[in-house]
Parts: sequence; structure tokens; C-alpha cells
Amino acid sequence: MKMIFFGPPGSGKGTQAKLIAKKLNILHLSTGDILRDKLDDSDKLSKQLKKIMSSGNLVSDKIINQIISNKLISKVCSTGYILDGYPRTISQSEYLLSFMKNNNIIIDLIFDFKIDFKIVKERIIHRSLKEKRSDDNLDSIKTRIDNYSKETYPVSQFFSNNFSQNYFTIDASQEVSHIQKELMKIIKKGEN
Ligand code: ADP
Repeated sequence: MKMIFFGPPGSGKGTQAKLIAKKLNILHLSTGDILRDKLDDSDKLSKQLKKIMSSGNLVSDKIINQIISNKLISKVCSTGYILDGYPRTISQSEYLLSFMKNNNIIIDLIFDFKIDFKIVKERIIHRSLKEKRSDDNLDSIKTRIDNYSKETYPVSQFFSNNFSQNYFTIDASQEVSHIQKELMKIIKKGEN
């Protein structure tokens, strides 16, 4: 099962992706998590990433495309995965679509988490107190939401228009367990 999760920062798509990936025993490919892991290195790239991510800006398409394509061709991905945080720009989605075509990859399901930006802000501020993520501050939240509206929302619309049969919107303001059930119901149907 291969899936893409779209949604603004703080919509809970990462939480759901983690739970579903564990349940189905597939990989959770979160570009945010992959990048955050790189921050522990002490090279030039990690310094650049720190600066970009703590301000809430997007890392370059070139870096991200390379990271993702290396992952997607690896053996661990053969049983399936959830793409969380990718593609995030039109250029990334063009890259992914051509990569999929060249490697005969078909995306089974696309979930788009919809939520009011006011709730998102409250959730991220709450999360910042618990998780201490360096990009969970007020300035960066604004930049990330703006980036989502400008860059990622059009990508989700593209997938909604071109993959309408596999595309499902999710009301992300609901409880974690409720969303989980809703996702599993659609996934089970997709498996049959
Ligand atoms: P959120 O969606 O809550 O902002 P993520 O964990 O998905 O958090 O991403 C954190 C940061 O990592 C982003 O603000 C951005 O700087 C970087 N990032 C993640 N995915 C991408 C991507 N596909 N393209 C560019 N930058 C990315």
C-alpha cells in the first residue's frame, strides 16, 4: 500500500501516518523527520538546514527530491509507505510523478487533512511546549502556514483533480482515534 498524506502543519497527518504505518507494517516517510535527523550531523548541510527549518522556510527541492528518490528505490519501500510532507511544491510533485512513471510506481491512496488554521496555530503552540521542536515558534508557524497555502495547497488540488478516484479529504479537527478509524475504513476498502 502506497499513500500520500497532505495537510497543513499541525493537522495531525504525521501522528496518523505514524499510527497507520505501524498498523500496516509499512514505512512512514516523513521528510520533516528525515531532515530533523540530519540536524544532528555537524557538516555544512546540517547548518544550512537548521537555518532554513527554524525559520519555517522550505528546504530546496533538489535536496528533498534526492533524499526521497534514494528512499523510494530502497528495498524497505517495496512493501509500501506513507509519504508525509512530500510532495510539498509543484516542482516536487512533477519530480515525483515522473519518478513514479519511470519506476512503475502507483499511488494507491491520497489523504488530504483539512483543518481551520486557527486550530492549527493553537495545536502547534501546545506541541511546542511538549516536544521542543526548534521550528515551533510563532514566527515560523506563520511562515509555514503561508508556505502551505502558497506552495502545497495547489499541489493537493492538482492531486485532487488528477487522482480523484484515490483522493479522500479528512476532517482533521476530529479526535485522533476517530480519524484513525476513518482512515482504516478507506484503506481496508482499497485493499479489496
Ligand atoms: P510541518 O509540516 O509541521 O511544518 P514537517 O515536519 O513536515 O513539519 O517539516 C518541518 C520542516 O522541514 C519544514 O518547515 C521545512 O523546512 C522542511 N521540509 C519538510 N518537508 C519538506 C519538503 N518536502 N520540501 C521542503 N522542505 C521540507
